[in-house]
Amino acid sequence: MLIYGPVPSRRLGFSFGVDVIPFKTCSFDCIYCQLGRTTSKTVERKEWIPQTEILSELEKTLSMKHKIDYITFSGSGEPTLNSKIGELIKSIKRMTSIPIAVLTNGSLLFQKDLREGLLDADLIVPSLDTTNQEIFEKVNRPYPSLNIDIIINGLKDLRKEFKGLIWLEVMLVEGINDGFDEIKKLKSIIGEVKPDKVQLNTVVRPPTESFARPISVERSEKIKDVLGGKTEIIAKFEREKQMAYLKDIEERILTLIERRPVTAVDISNSLGMHRTGVIKYLDSLNRKGKIKIKSYRDDTYYESNYSAHKTHEKTQKGDK
Ligand code: SF4
Repeated sequence: MLIYGPVPSRRLGFSFGVDVIPFKTCSFDCIYCQLGRTTSKTVERKEWIPQTEILSELEKTLSMKHKIDYITFSGSGEPTLNSKIGELIKSIKRMTSIPIAVLTNGSLLFQKDLREGLLDADLIVPSLDTTNQEIFEKVNRPYPSLNIDIIINGLKDLRKEFKGLIWLEVMLVEGINDGFDEIKKLKSIIGEVKPDKVQLNTVVRPPTESFARPISVERSEKIKDVLGGKTEIIAKFEREKQMAYLKDIEERILTLIERRPVTAVDISNSLGMHRTGVIKYLDSLNRKGKIKIKSYRDDTYYESNYSAHKTHEKTQKGDK
C-alpha cells in the first residue's frame, strides 16, 4: 500500500499520504521516531519504489473523489531518498489541483538536484532540531557522513530558490535539545533560513526510545517566546483545532483493540491500513482519551480505555 488515507494530519487537515520508500528507510534514526528504529539507514537516493506503481495507485485513490486538503509525501521514512520525487510531484500536479506537501528531515536539501525537484510542491515542512553537531548526533542519530552545518546551508538555499511555503518543524526532547543557549542559537539560524512559520513540537506519540521525553507546556511557551513571531506550538494548536475525523475508521480500530492489546503493526495488518495512517488515528483516539498506551519490552501496545469509550457513547446517545 503506497497511498494511505485520508488521514487526519495534525497540521494539514485531511491528507492522502504518499509513501515512496520502503518501511523505515531513512537518513536518520531519531530517538523520538514514532515508526520505531531505522532498519535501513542510508543517504542513497534512488528509485526505491517505481514511480509508475505510485502514480497508478494514486490515480485510483483520487478517482474516489474524497475531499482532501493535501497530498503529502511522508510515510515510512525519508521521502527525499526517492530520486524520482521531483518527477512524481510534476506528474501529480498534472493529475490534480490538490496542493502537495513534502515532509522531510531536511538532511539532503544541500543537493541542488533534490531542491530543484521540490520546486513544484506547494508546502515543504523540513525539520531542524538543533544547530549543534553533538546534539544532532544524540537526537537524530544521522547517517555518519551528515553534518548539521551543511544541512543548515541546504535549508538556506531552499529558501532562496523555493517560492512556496516553508514551515520549519522543531522537535523538542526534554533535557536533550531544549536548553536555552541552544534555543538562542537556533533562533539566529532560523533568522537566516527565513521559514514562513516555525512549528514547535514535542514527543506526543510513543517514541522509539523511552528516554525521549516530552517537554512541558510551560517550557514550550517559554521557548516560543524566545523564538518569537512566526512560532506556534503544535500540541496546543491541535487541541484548539479539534480536527474532524473519520469516525468509521476510529470505530473499527476501537472494536479491534477492545478484544486485546495490540501493536500498530497488528492493527495495520488486520484492517489493511498503512502503518503511518494507523498511527495518526491512534494519536487522535489517544488525545480523546479513548485508548491507553503501554510499553512492553521493545513494543508499544494500544488498548481500549473502555469506560471512557462507553461514557462517550452514552453521552452521544443521550444527546440525540
Ligand atoms: S527523520 Fe522522521 S522517519 Fe526518519 S527517523 Fe527521524 S522521525 Fe523517523
